[in-house]
Amino acid sequence: MHDVEQILARVRSRNAALIAVSKTHSVSRIREIYDLGIRDFGENKVQEMIEKAPQLPPDIRWHLIGHLQTNKVKYVAPFVFMIHTVDSEKLLGEIEKQAAKHDRSIRVLFQFHVAREESKFGIDPNRMDWLTQVDFPLEYPHLIPSGVMGMATFTDDEDIIRREFQQLHSIFHRLKTSVFADQASFKDISMGMSSDYAIALEEGSTMVRIGSLIFGAREFPPQ
Ligand SMILES: *Cc1c(COP(=O)(O)O)cnc(C)c1O
Repeated sequence: MHDVEQILARVRSRNAALIAVSKTHSVSRIREIYDLGIRDFGENKVQEMIEKAPQLPPDIRWHLIGHLQTNKVKYVAPFVFMIHTVDSEKLLGEIEKQAAKHDRSIRVLFQFHVAREESKFGIDPNRMDWLTQVDFPLEYPHLIPSGVMGMATFTDDEDIIRREFQQLHSIFHRLKTSVFADQASFKDISMGMSSDYAIALEEGSTMVRIGSLIFGAREFPPQ
């Protein structure tokens, strides 16, 4: 195991939160990390999250950090704490509907595609008109708009990574001073993983999502 306390101290000294990304790791490994005081865990697959959650303490805050299909929202709605990957109005509407059904409030982050890699997921910063027109809280009384999320390009070039985090930060700022100006809850920038979290913290991250540095190498490769 890596030094979780050391990572935690570094993250907290920047007033950010640590999300332990437990994908592919067993319930007993998660329990070990839980026993160190960590309460925020991230999973990228709905199926894996719904299998693990009932076997672990109820005070864990579960973060969905992978792509979410509209037809799977209903499985996580009863317990998920925050969904980091909202990238369409349709998905937003479905999360509202399912949260209402369970009489819950669900925190949502808007995922932006800022990396150079091709990806079907994340909002294209040049196509975010729909987001500038959403009406919170009127249309979405069960959702807590909490900020933005993004991933940097997988590269050794720190300048590229830094610029992408800066771009995400500026998108956050634009939304915070316009659409979400009246929403005190809109305050998070979820960015930074094992390889780039130090840069992310320097660029204003408030939530880092760290897997391999905490749990060691994954038991099978992520898709
Ligand atoms: C797997 C994953 C992480 C954590 O990756 P590590 O490199 O293991 O820290 C963070 N964010 C997302 C969206 C992921 O899928």
